[in-house]
Amino acid sequence: MTKVSRRAFLQASAMAAAGSTLIPADLSGQSAAGPKVRRLKPLGKTGWKVGDVSGGSDQTDPAVFEDMFQRGINLVDTGAQYVGHEDVLGKALPKWRDKVFVVDKWDPPLVTPKVTKAALLEALDVSLKRLNTTYIDCMMLHSIGHPRYGGIERIQNPAIYEAWDEAKRLKKIRFTGASSHGPRMLDEIGWGIDNNRFDVILIGSNFLTHGVEPLLKKARTKGIGTIAMKSMTLYQSDLNIRGLQGKETNARQACLKWILASDLFDTVVIRMPNLDKVAEYLAVSGTTRLTTQDRGHLQLAAAAIGPLYCRPGCRGCEGTCPCDVPVPDVLRYRMYFEHYGEQKRAIQKYAQIPVSQRASACADCDAPCERACPYGVRVRERLVGAHGHLSLA
Ligand code: SF4
Ligand code: SF4
Repeated sequence: MTKVSRRAFLQASAMAAAGSTLIPADLSGQSAAGPKVRRLKPLGKTGWKVGDVSGGSDQTDPAVFEDMFQRGINLVDTGAQYVGHEDVLGKALPKWRDKVFVVDKWDPPLVTPKVTKAALLEALDVSLKRLNTTYIDCMMLHSIGHPRYGGIERIQNPAIYEAWDEAKRLKKIRFTGASSHGPRMLDEIGWGIDNNRFDVILIGSNFLTHGVEPLLKKARTKGIGTIAMKSMTLYQSDLNIRGLQGKETNARQACLKWILASDLFDTVVIRMPNLDKVAEYLAVSGTTRLTTQDRGHLQLAAAAIGPLYCRPGCRGCEGTCPCDVPVPDVLRYRMYFEHYGEQKRAIQKYAQIPVSQRASACADCDAPCERACPYGVRVRERLVGAHGHLSLA
């Protein structure tokens, strides 16, 4: 019989009583060597016990999924918008189908106030084919609360809910939900919770954001599963923080540990493009508290990144710009350009903003947007830089 330390046993017992389970490393039962999922939590009322660390998009090799699943990751997030991602997942999924909870999403521009039930069901069938499966565990509305895709009327289209009902009847989906990190995240996710539309929500949250707690409390009360995203604010920017040079891995892990230790969410999806990242992030699975070193890393990161980082779900500067510049969108495209290594995508997205609303006007503006920012983001400077990076002119 495997020996388990008294401390590990007591910790596991206490967490099981709270609804979550800490898995001692030597009892995980998973075959891969190296870091594994160490903690399971109920995903709302879905009946699924989800690992505390889950897989976000970005994999281009099915072998990365295979490694993730062998290490105990049992929820993955995909979507029609991540071109090619459903296909890659579909190569790895059949072998693991009953052990992995798949979150998928319709392409955001498809979901309009006029989209029909037939069009949504047709798109669902395309995704099922790409995923190489007969069902999706949770079908979500993608990126609600983003003005660029329209207002709340798009998610109030009855065709969505008729399509979901029909797909459930046909056993093509099991649960429904929505994702958001847009400026109207709290309003639109809140509408869906109030109107009993969602079983699971996927929202932006990290150690630099605040304000999601009441929404999460409401979701929990209704038994809605909660998933965090955008929890790794650092990406490559930690390389530019003097105090963190040489400690990039630990600093990224500290960001992840913050969301795990906060216990705000049932799980968190993280982009894991390769085997190294899978191992790096799973090394902190099971975290329930931060160390002094973690707090030091987060303080350094907050001081360096805080004034540069536009928080997901914030609309503090909305309505202040005389030129109607979509500030959160432009700043996010700059983040894609600088920190995600997605220069082409960032430039293409910026080009979709009408010329009169681009950040060319910011250089000569006294920046009422910046005065309105509760986080002290250097908004004007960031926008001027964004225009420089993203403008093809
Ligand atoms: S700096 Fe001026 S022009 Fe630019 S977004 Fe802010 S208010 Fe608008
Ligand atoms: S710039 Fe500041 S106020 Fe505006 S959305 Fe971003 S974090 Fe919020």
